[in-house]
Formats: sequence, structure tokens, C-alpha cells
Amino acid sequence: MDIPRIFNITESAHRIHNPITPEKLATLGAVLRLESGDRVLDLGSGSGEMLCTWARDHGIIGTGIDLSPLFTEQARRRAVELGVAHQVTFIHGDAVGYVSDEKVSLAACVGATWIGGGVAGTIELLARSLRPGGIILIGEPCWRQLPPTEEVTKGCLVDSVSEFLTLPELLGSFGRRGYDVVEMVLADQDGWDRYEAAKWLTMRRWLEANPHDELAKEVRAKLTSEPERYAAYTREYLGWGVFALMPRWCVL
Ligand code: SAH
Repeated sequence: MDIPRIFNITESAHRIHNPITPEKLATLGAVLRLESGDRVLDLGSGSGEMLCTWARDHGIIGTGIDLSPLFTEQARRRAVELGVAHQVTFIHGDAVGYVSDEKVSLAACVGATWIGGGVAGTIELLARSLRPGGIILIGEPCWRQLPPTEEVTKGCLVDSVSEFLTLPELLGSFGRRGYDVVEMVLADQDGWDRYEAAKWLTMRRWLEANPHDELAKEVRAKLTSEPERYAAYTREYLGWGVFALMPRWCVL
């Protein structure tokens, strides 16, 4: 059970597999007012940076599930490195349909909402693990500027403009699904650079070490085209944020 190998290659050196920076991840942990002993579930936990740093900084107890054996192993190593291995558990597996045995204070899916078949389905899935009064965390792209043409949409590696909303539309959509947006931390272009540009040095080094690999041609082509494509499209048009939600039914 694994994700397509290309991601394990291009993102092998990432601690955070998203445009959010370590500083913003720390801000997010602080603004959520986490308390020591709070349980956190993270679907698509990647290399575990969110759970590990929040375990260190806020004393949370975390469980992460991720389909990539490589990222899961990196998450376990990071937990040991930060001295929180007794607080966090990283499970290698498919998070589709995953509901925790014990209810959690914070149920997160940050940059992997396909796990629930989209934002709506992921909110529903996370809600099944949430204790009353708990918070759902969704990390998702949104349009920074609407692509004016299909060429620009495709340049962002997005099939259709309707795949994402603008920020006001996305915030409104949470409300229409019955959730209050109670916090958010947005990525910026520097954060996108950390996520995207970090892949380039990783690809270059991987190519030097693996010139005869069956994916070498594909990686070579990506390294050639990505900087220009990214700067022209993704960096300009795509935004990204993490949104904290609470069901509306509990207050009025
Ligand atoms: N939340 C992490 C990782 C985001 S990248 C972070 O912010 O760093 C998306 C992650 O989803 C990858 O780690 C990938 O391995 C994982 N993933 C993809 N499909 C999955 C699935 N069906 N179940 C669990 N994890 C999945």
C-alpha cells in the first residue's frame, strides 16, 4: 500500500508536504488553544510534523494515518527526535473511512481531502471522530485569483476551475454545510516556495544518485519545466489555507 512513487521521490526531504511553513504551523497550534492531553487525529499525516511539534509544544496526544510507508517512517523518526514518541502514534494505512475508537478534541485533514471524496465528505468523516465541542481542521487550496483561461487552470495542474473555490466562497461553503469557521491560517507565496522549490533540489540530487532509474526521465523533465510553470501559474493563482471549524448546532 503506497502513494505513487513520484511523490515519495520529490517530497522525500519535506517535513511539511504543504505550503504552510514551520512558523505558520506553530501559529496554527497556538491559535487553536490546544491543551495538554487533548487528543488529535490527523488523516494524511505525511511526515508527522504537525502532530510531533504540537505534542512537543502543547502536550497533545496524537494519532496520524498515512498511505506512504516512507512518510510514516519519517514521522516516527521525527517523534523520537523531538522526544514525543510516547505521545504520538503513526499508522501506515489508508485513511479512507477511518474513524477513531476514542473521540478526539481536534480532527484534522490537512491537504488530503480526497480521503473523504472532497471537502464536504472529509468534514463528515472527521466529524465522526470528534467529541462534542471539538474542532475540525481542513487544509485546502483556494483560488488566489480566478484563472482567466483554461490554459491557466491547467497550468496550475488543476483539471477544472470548479475544483476549487475563492477564499470567500470557501469560507461561505463551510457555513452552508452547518459549520462556524472559528480560525484560519493562510499560506502565502513564500510558503508555496518552501513546498514547491524544495522539490527541485531533491529532484536534482535524486537524479544524480539514480540516473538509470525508470522514473529518471520523468523527474528530469519535471526539474526542467517546474520552476517556470510554478512561477507562472501555481504561485500566482493558487492560495492555500487551514480552516478550523465547529458544528453550528451547539450554539443557537
Ligand atoms: N498533512 C501532511 C501531508 C499532506 S500531503 C502535511 O501537511 O505535511 C498528502 C498526504 O496524504 C501524503 O502524505 C500522502 O501520503 C497521504 N495520503 C494520500 N492518500 C491517502 C490515503 N488514502 N490515506 C492516508 N493518507 C493518504
